[in-house]
Amino acid sequence: MPAHADFGELDLGGPRLYWLDGGGFRSDGGAQFGPVPRPRWAEVYPPADDNSVPLTAHVVLVQADGQWGLIDSGIGHHLSERQRRFYRVERESSVERGLAEVGITHDQLDWVALTHLHLDHAGGVLRRDDGGEVAPVFPRARVWVQTLEAREARDETNRAHAVYTGDAFDRLEASGLVHEIEGEAAISASIRLFLTGGHSRGHQGVLIAGADGSALLHLGDLVITRGHVNPGWVSANDDFPLDSIRAKRHWLSQAAQQGWWVAFSHDVAYTAARLSVDGRVEARRAAPARAQAARRAE
Ligand SMILES: [Zn+2]
Repeated sequence: MPAHADFGELDLGGPRLYWLDGGGFRSDGGAQFGPVPRPRWAEVYPPADDNSVPLTAHVVLVQADGQWGLIDSGIGHHLSERQRRFYRVERESSVERGLAEVGITHDQLDWVALTHLHLDHAGGVLRRDDGGEVAPVFPRARVWVQTLEAREARDETNRAHAVYTGDAFDRLEASGLVHEIEGEAAISASIRLFLTGGHSRGHQGVLIAGADGSALLHLGDLVITRGHVNPGWVSANDDFPLDSIRAKRHWLSQAAQQGWWVAFSHDVAYTAARLSVDGRVEARRAAPARAQAARRAE
């Protein structure tokens, strides 16, 4: 791999993690911080003049147990103009380039764990082929999704239907790559998935266990930025905020006690933090420079 490549790499003593850039976008700060008063969140995560905040669709490449996998897949390249406007996409996904810099190709990926099926997480598993048809990006990778989430994606009455992969997800299912789970499952010895709900009904988290008790806890959009490590700081986009708070209380206190890293799904400046037992950010990991390109509002 080239010496200049910056992946914000994390070595858990066995599993190795690399942060790839799944694209940059912008969202209303009030929507991201829900019930939190603006003066409080603005201090922690500074907005632009129009109250928007810059976000990165972080994609975590995982090398563990003799396999390669991804946690989430970024925005991808197949969004409609309407979807791109909705997300205020400012920077294209460069997951392909990131994989090439690590030295692997699309067909070497064994699995993709999607925390949920909103486009900024699930968009990157699909592409449009030359004929304009939606096709899978990773031809060998099993896509791990909660059954509840797959059901939500098909539900046209869901308020988030416009941000779901929708009929594109049907194509992925037709390809036979989707592996639905209910509740808990292990992808391999070090990697565990579990249902959290909250942000969406079938939202899931990922725990990657390393050597000597080290671990990375990935709670998807329950922990969007450094501000969201507070269990009460939940997004206004959460369908079931009380479930988000409950799941965060449970998992974040464990992470603090065990000294696990906690991943941020969209923080432009940081990828993960370690928390003190009273819930404060004790140490944090800077995002790779490329993923910080949308940072100009700060
Ligand atoms: Zn998201």
